[in-house]
Amino acid sequence: MRIPFGHRFTPRLSLGLAATVLAAIAMVPAQATPSNPEGMKAHIAAAEKVAASHPDLKGPLNLCKTATGAPASSFMANYKKWSAETPLPPMQVFDNLYFLGAKWTTAWAIKTSDGIIVVDAMDNASEAEHYIEGGLRKLGLDPAQIKYVVVSHAHGDHYGGADYLQKKFHARVVMSTIDWDALDKLRNDPDALKKVNPLFGPPPARDMAVNDGDTIKLGDTTVTEHLIPGHTLGTLATTFTAFDHGKPHHAVAWGGTAYNFGPLPDRLQIYADTTKKFTDVFGKDNIDVVLSNHVSFDAAVAKMAKLKERKAGGPNPFVVGNDEVKGFLTILGECALATKDSLPAK
Ligand SMILES: [Zn+2]
Repeated sequence: MRIPFGHRFTPRLSLGLAATVLAAIAMVPAQATPSNPEGMKAHIAAAEKVAASHPDLKGPLNLCKTATGAPASSFMANYKKWSAETPLPPMQVFDNLYFLGAKWTTAWAIKTSDGIIVVDAMDNASEAEHYIEGGLRKLGLDPAQIKYVVVSHAHGDHYGGADYLQKKFHARVVMSTIDWDALDKLRNDPDALKKVNPLFGPPPARDMAVNDGDTIKLGDTTVTEHLIPGHTLGTLATTFTAFDHGKPHHAVAWGGTAYNFGPLPDRLQIYADTTKKFTDVFGKDNIDVVLSNHVSFDAAVAKMAKLKERKAGGPNPFVVGNDEVKGFLTILGECALATKDSLPAK
């Protein structure tokens, strides 16, 4: 049976689409004999080597646990824990970029001369209201200026708040054609919809569809959408210029990371191919800032703590350099290949 998004292939995923990053880690049975144990070890070693010289990349290195089957705590337990902890305050991290996230999932706001582009919409209306709308207000920005909400992919922890922003601020909701199609399939399948974690808001009404290389221009700002198939087949990465005291940097918001689509060797290969391709693309574009929609992958909490302590003229911790951006992609790709090699032979 083909399952929408390939998300539910073990009973522990009755949480549905919510069981993303953390549950994914425990999804490959540790007992199964890997089809290629040597390859698996080599790929893990390659990922570890990169992380050893880039402490920010310890988070992404956890993706290799999908290959080793290391136990992970459950998503709901963590969600409750994170929700009970002090929420992350919103923060301006570049002249034109704002963090609006929580411990689980992140939204980013790009300020332009003609309104705001929000990247990702968090889990549901209440989070969109609290973190995105409320966060913008706390930072002195007007949420009524949200013109676009780019949803990186059709998983509830990123589209769940989009319906709220669409209805309240008449923001255009942007997603790839492929993931809109996936969301429409879900929308029209009552049984599948029932299995989606009730934590997530409803799928937003189908709106603006983009494809690889499409741009969104708003005022003085142009963002580019890149199709990065892997986490879902239509995941988007958004690139844009982030200004630090007027100095331009090249940022990417990488839209999908975990291998929670199931034990699918072909899909893991597509994922790894994407990371290879974008190592080149982002090298040419000299991308030097990498953002995620989960703080567990971009070390945003540590970077914001450093940013608070920043001395005049000191570096912005979000500017990591192209080498680290490439390292991020290398770890994602190597851990994907390790996971592929960890799957039992057919
Ligand atoms: Zn996802």
